[in-house]
This record gives sequence, structure tokens and C-alpha cells, in this order.
Amino acid sequence: MLDRFNRELNYLRISVTDRCNLRCTYCMPEEGIKLFGHEEILTFSEIAGFTRAAVANGVTKVRLTGGEPLVRKGITALVRMISEITGIEDLSMTTNGTLLKLFARELKSAGLQRVNISLDTIDPDKFKLITRSGNINDVFEGIDAAKSAGLFPLKINCVVNNSKEEDDAKEVTRFCKDNNLEIRYIRQMDLIRGHFSVVDGGTGGDCALCNRLRLTSNGKLKPCLFNNIEFDIRELGYEKAIKLAADMKPECGSINETDSFYNIGG
Ligand code: SAM
Ligand code: SF4
Repeated sequence: MLDRFNRELNYLRISVTDRCNLRCTYCMPEEGIKLFGHEEILTFSEIAGFTRAAVANGVTKVRLTGGEPLVRKGITALVRMISEITGIEDLSMTTNGTLLKLFARELKSAGLQRVNISLDTIDPDKFKLITRSGNINDVFEGIDAAKSAGLFPLKINCVVNNSKEEDDAKEVTRFCKDNNLEIRYIRQMDLIRGHFSVVDGGTGGDCALCNRLRLTSNGKLKPCLFNNIEFDIRELGYEKAIKLAADMKPECGSINETDSFYNIGG
């Protein structure tokens, strides 16, 4: 489907939960967040039904994200439901990787093709500081498990303050070279202040080329990460929400005062 600016919207990112087992300093407050109630969160059949409608309207690429997608109970069953939708050419997930050693194999057999794993440093102490709790060895084991399961290409998302020449980013770059992993550098963004930039090594952040729609875990369809506009898929119905999101997708991002990375999923 085309939007008003002739951009082909073929990429749907689905946040499957607002919950997370880490508390990254740039993403969540230390005390956690006010979580959506159980009934607010979309069911698997709603997510799959909406995805089917999106695919009928031209979506070919789907990414599951969160919060942390692997803390959503039964995530493998959801992956299977989505992978069975005819027309999806690329099915991926963004994860912090800490639980991947438990899930990599079953996710692959359920039809997940590939994963992006977030890693901003390879120093265990700094990792603990950034995530406020995480054990970096869980991520390393998750990376190994994803490789053995055949979740390729495996990409690393590295959040940087300003540039990939920072010490931590340079070490993550070396780690990726040594382990044959692709890397994308994401400059730390601020939704409220409207600070966003192009993802180095990826496709995000360039408004003229943006092909994305985002579905939050409580059923809001968002045509732009850096804008408050959203359409409730339960109230409007899937088809109408998709049409409105495509029609109202702004030419360029500005600010988003109503959301955070943990509920949109980046
Ligand atoms: N929990 C998963 C993870 O961390 O990969 C998926 C959700 S997370 C919100 C998705 C991506 O957004 C991660 O790569 C994370 O590093 C990135 N992210 C979170 N907050 C950010 C911020 N303020 N600026 C830029 N990227 C951010
Ligand atoms: Fe959790 Fe991902 Fe946000 Fe870190 S970036 S707090 S892992 S959702």
C-alpha cells in the first residue's frame, strides 16, 4: 500500500508486550513502568488477525519486538501463527537476547527467520550498569544459541551516544567482526524532544524512505515513531485502522509525547 507521499508501506513492527526483564537506562525508568492490564494487551488471535489484514494490504516484512518479546508467555506459538500467514517474506525479532538460549531452537522451528540482538558494550560491568541488572553472559549464550539454531543473518543493535567511534561501540564492532555478525549503530534517541537520526547500517530514521507501521501491545497502530498519531485497531477494526494509518502517515517525524521505546519497540 502507498501513503500520501508515495512511500510503499510494507513493514509491520509488532510490540508483543510492554514488559521487560531489563531496565536499560535509555529506555525505562529504574522503578519500572505502569504496565498495561491483562485485558488491554492484544491476544495472539488479534495479533495474527491484524497481521493477516496488514499482509492483505501489502505488508511483506514483520518484526516482533517489545518490551522484551521473549517474556511474552507462549511467544513461540505466536511466531508459528504469524509464520503461517502466506505473503510474509521476512519474519524477524528484536530481543535483548538474555532468554534466547531457552528459545532459539523452538523459534526457528516455528518459522522465525532471524533476530536482532541488542548489545551496547562487551564489558560485563558496563552491561550491568546500562541494563541496571543484566548478566552479559546470558546475551553471549543467546548469540551462540541463535547461531546454532540458524537464525541468520544475525544482527547486533548497538546504541551509541553520538558515534560508532566511542570505546564501547568500537569493542562491540570488533566482537561482531570476530564472530561474523552484522552490526547497526543506533544513536540514542529522545521521543519527547524529537531527537532522531538515521540508523548506521540499517534502514531506520530516514523519513523519505520510511516503509513502517507499528502496532503496540495494547492495539494502537502508529504510522510514525516520532508522532503522537495512533489508531485503535479494536475500536476501528483492522481494515479501517490500516487505511487511516496509511493516509495519515506524516511526511516526517517530529515529536512523540505519548509513547516510549518500551511500548513501541523501537
Ligand atoms: N527488548 C528488546 C531489545 O532491547 O532489543 C526489544 C525492544 S527495544 C525497545 C528495541 C530497540 O530499541 C533496542 O535495540 C534498543 O536498544 C532500542 N532503544 C531503546 N531505547 C532507545 C533509545 N532511547 N534510543 C535509541 N534506541 C533505543
Ligand atoms: Fe528492555 Fe529492550 Fe528497553 Fe532494554 S531496550 S529496557 S531490553 S525493552
